[in-house]
Amino acid sequence: MRNGLDYLESVVNHLDENESLVTPRDVKYAVLHLQAAVEVLLKARLLVEHWSLVFSNPGEATRKALDEATLSSVSTEHAVTRLRNIAGVDITDKEATALKHLAKDRNKLQHFAMTAPAPVIEARTGEVLDFLIRFVDDELLPRLNHEEKTEVGETLGRLRGGLASINTFVRKRTNRIRGEVTKAGAENRTIKCPECDHLALVLGEAAGPDGETAWATCRFCMIRWEQEELLYCFLEDDRGETSELNTCPQCREWTLGWGIRVLSDPEKDVPFCFACSVAFPSVVPCDRCARPVDHAGDSGETLCGRCWDDAVEEDRYGREDPTDYGYAEEPG
Ligand SMILES: [Zn+2]
Ligand SMILES: [Zn+2]
Ligand SMILES: [Zn+2]
Repeated sequence: MRNGLDYLESVVNHLDENESLVTPRDVKYAVLHLQAAVEVLLKARLLVEHWSLVFSNPGEATRKALDEATLSSVSTEHAVTRLRNIAGVDITDKEATALKHLAKDRNKLQHFAMTAPAPVIEARTGEVLDFLIRFVDDELLPRLNHEEKTEVGETLGRLRGGLASINTFVRKRTNRIRGEVTKAGAENRTIKCPECDHLALVLGEAAGPDGETAWATCRFCMIRWEQEELLYCFLEDDRGETSELNTCPQCREWTLGWGIRVLSDPEKDVPFCFACSVAFPSVVPCDRCARPVDHAGDSGETLCGRCWDDAVEEDRYGREDPTDYGYAEEPG
């Protein structure tokens, strides 16, 4: 546990914007040390439950491998599952996702020597750090003796200070972006970024070198998106291709994405056309074929024009005597 907290202090020192500018090197060590802290602290709690649980396969656990530290140890993902299922530790889905993102960042760093941009790392670090401090507080601290508690308590105090400054940085950045977007009157074409989950991806403004408005930059994570890439993040089905189900009610192109969070109406997900940069809050999928249709608030079954015609026909023939098809009455 001391080892884990030591890693956390290093994370906080690397990301402290008040001390000095956060460099790519700081980001790198913040990610590596945060992941190390996660692994060490989760295992510390598993050890309390039973020492075999820190092995990747508890069935093959031996005391010797543990003592000599030659074991193949449990992955973070499995550690989370074991803590939840066996130790009854409360880890929310959001926290588990934050841990997963972190593990991904660490792998990227080890294989490609790159990470997500600094602001994204700060935001994610804030989430993980928040979880770890609570985790140490609830799960590890009560098991220490008085002297250890005092020592760990002091470290936790410093970590809380570090967490507050990271959160302040994230909040300041979020507020500044919000202000800029509002000033530009762009709330209705600013969406939640699929990369960093911040409502900071402003569409239809930055003209590319060829004068196209097809791409956009997230103001929080600074990641650039092509129109098509973005659309593919929001296809309704898993076919991985656009289809009639993506027909925009305005421009008729297959550029309508589903389930997009827009800054001007941040409480719900709506369909959004990436060609028009317009949200269509009243558009819903047709109850029968899932093509987009403007529901406009009336109740009952929602049908597109084609399915509506089919329904009328079914209705008409459905009322007739099944033996009398009525063809004689139809001209031609
Ligand atoms: Zn982003
Ligand atoms: Zn459109
Ligand atoms: Zn339909």
